[in-house]
Parts: sequence; C-alpha cells; structure tokens
Amino acid sequence: MSDIQLKQLTKSYGNHVAVAGIDLHIAEGEFFSLLGPSGCGKSTTLRMIAGFVQPTSGEVLIGSDDVTALPPEKRDIGIVFQNYAIFPHMNVADNIAFGLKLRKRPREEIRKQVTHALTQVGLSGYEDRYQRQLSGGEQQRVALARVLVTEPRILLLDEPLSALDKSLREEMKYWIKGLQKKLGITTVYVTHDQDEALTMSDRIGVMQKAQVVQVGTPQDIYERPKTLFVTTFIGHSNVMDATVGSGAGQDMTVLIDGKPVPTRGPENLAPGQAIKLVVRPENVLIGPDETMPIRLPATVLSETYQGALVRYHLAVGGQEIVAERQNQSGNERFDPGTPVMIGWDPHRSEALVA
Ligand code: ADP
Ligand code: MG
Repeated sequence: MSDIQLKQLTKSYGNHVAVAGIDLHIAEGEFFSLLGPSGCGKSTTLRMIAGFVQPTSGEVLIGSDDVTALPPEKRDIGIVFQNYAIFPHMNVADNIAFGLKLRKRPREEIRKQVTHALTQVGLSGYEDRYQRQLSGGEQQRVALARVLVTEPRILLLDEPLSALDKSLREEMKYWIKGLQKKLGITTVYVTHDQDEALTMSDRIGVMQKAQVVQVGTPQDIYERPKTLFVTTFIGHSNVMDATVGSGAGQDMTVLIDGKPVPTRGPENLAPGQAIKLVVRPENVLIGPDETMPIRLPATVLSETYQGALVRYHLAVGGQEIVAERQNQSGNERFDPGTPVMIGWDPHRSEALVA
C-alpha cells in the first residue's frame, strides 16, 4: 500500500509555527495538491513527508509503515523541486542512471531502466544530450525520469512548473497529470497556482497560515468554499454585505438592501447577524428576465469586452459586483447606465461568516 497519513503533523522553528497540526489521508494512487499562498507551510509539509525536515511532533505513515523517524532514502519516495537542475557535467542517461549506480545495480539492467524511464517521460533518444541542449520543460522531464527510474511508492512535486514560461506550464500540467494517471502513483503536488491545482488534482487541500483549512475535490473547493479565504484565493468571487434573514444551512435567507435573497449557508445563525453573500461572476445573471429565482434591481456601470467573455460591473444598492457572460450570439449586451435586474441560482451562492 502507498497511501499517506499525516497525524497532527507539526513543525516549529523557534517560536514560529510553519505547520500546525495537520491531519490528512491521501489515498493510494491519488493526485493530491497542497494549495496556498507563499509561506503557508506547503513545502515544509512536503519535506516532512519526504524526510528532509524532521517534525517537531506528529507522525507520517506511508502504507502501514510509520516512517516519521526514517531518513529520506529509506522512505521509497521520489521528489522533484522547482529548480531541480540536472547535473550539467553528465548527459541525460548518466543523470537518470545516477540513483541506480549508487544502488550498484547491474549495468545492463540500468541501461534498460534508463531507456524505459525516458520513454515514460516522452524523451526517447535523448540519452546523449547535456543540460544546455535541453529546454526548461525537457529538463524537468529528465528530473522526473531520474525520480521515476527508482520506482518510488510516492511522488512528491514542489512547484515543478513555476520556473517555466506560461505556455509550457499549460502543456506540462496536462502532461504530468496524464503520466500520473497512467502510472497510478500516489502523488502530492505543491503549488500556489489555483489553475494548476484545479486542473490536475483528484483532491486539493487548501492551506492558510500553517493549517489545512479545506479538503475536497476541485469542484467542492471551487463551488462549496467553506471560508471567505478559500473563495477569494481560488478564482474571483463577489463578496456582498448582507444580514441573516431567516433560517440556516441549506434553506436560509439573507437580506440585501432589505430584500430577501434565498441561499445556502452555515448552521447556527442569529437573525440580523452580519454575513457575507458570495457569488461567482459566471453565475450572475443579468436581464429583465421574469423567471430569475432572485431579482435585485441594479445599474450597469461598465461593460468590458474580453473576447469569449463580456464582463460587467454593476451597482446593486451601494455595492458593486461583477458579472461575466459568455459572448455568444443571442446574448443581449447592456450599455453603461442601463437599469437591469440581476439574479442567480440560490444553490450557486454561499453565505459565509466573515
Ligand atoms: P510555502 O512552501 O507554503 O511557501 P514554507 O513551508 O516554505 O511555505 O514555509 C512556511 C513558513 O516556515 C514560512 O514562514 C517560512 O519562512 C518558514 N520556514 C521554512 N523553512 C524554515 C527554516 N528552515 N527555518 C526557519 N523558518 C522556516
Ligand atoms: Mg514552497
């Protein structure tokens, strides 16, 4: 088995807590991302799984083995860093063979495994090249091959794409995801880039200030954020001031400018309590449309043409919100100054306590 369990995993540097009691279970074969802003403790968590950082307290289990006290080379993991430069004085084949030579494997076996690893990363025939003859993306593929050739139980990736330019990053994220699925290897991927995490992951753990604040599928995280931090860190959200009208949980109503607006939200709320109502721009409907489940009077402030999308800024009472509409034929356009009605599906909004 190669699932990973973190139990109350903690790392302090003096008074500074870098990772504060994380509990996580990462399933065998899963692509799990740790997503969060710089400094929130992602790399420290990954390095504790790898064994490069010794936890202050807590445990790391791989399969049923408690590996907390084991050095990295005894954990059967492979790790790739952001700037994992390959050795410049060795060609690709020797770079990949390096770990196997250390393990004193027979020469013929090493040659076969190097060929196999290069095929896995789509670089067959690159054996004799040197670092200066490889693009950034190819160097990261060699770094991956160097790790995969040792057949680790766990693959750990720390921002492996962040040194690459945008178009290469786009291409590599689909490629890494495809390779991971094909190999079925349990993978923990560290990134501050929400697009990477949403595109690649089976599940995401969102980190904030040394803690994991929400774990879920990309859809859960994007559509059912549990906190204002999660909703604003992942994509754009409109955050409106509201007060609790009635109810709680799945069937509740908030008041915006005195108008009742149905939504879902947390339990245990008091009527009149201040709360935020969160709606993604792509879910804001604009129109006179009489069938909209929610109808709030608004005024168009601006219209911005963005090719596939048209973005509107709208004033709703004293608040400003953003709506994005597909630019498709038949979609009416609205000039600045136009009075409109806006609304959304109540299940596409979330009331969150600030
Ligand atoms: P992330 O990868 O999410 O950007 P890190 O895990 O690298 O964050 O760091 C988390 C926090 O721990 C940061 O505040 C960082 O400065 C601190 N930190 C990391 N490593 C060390 C270290 N070796 N000594 C002291 N502080 C550290
Ligand atoms: Mg980091």
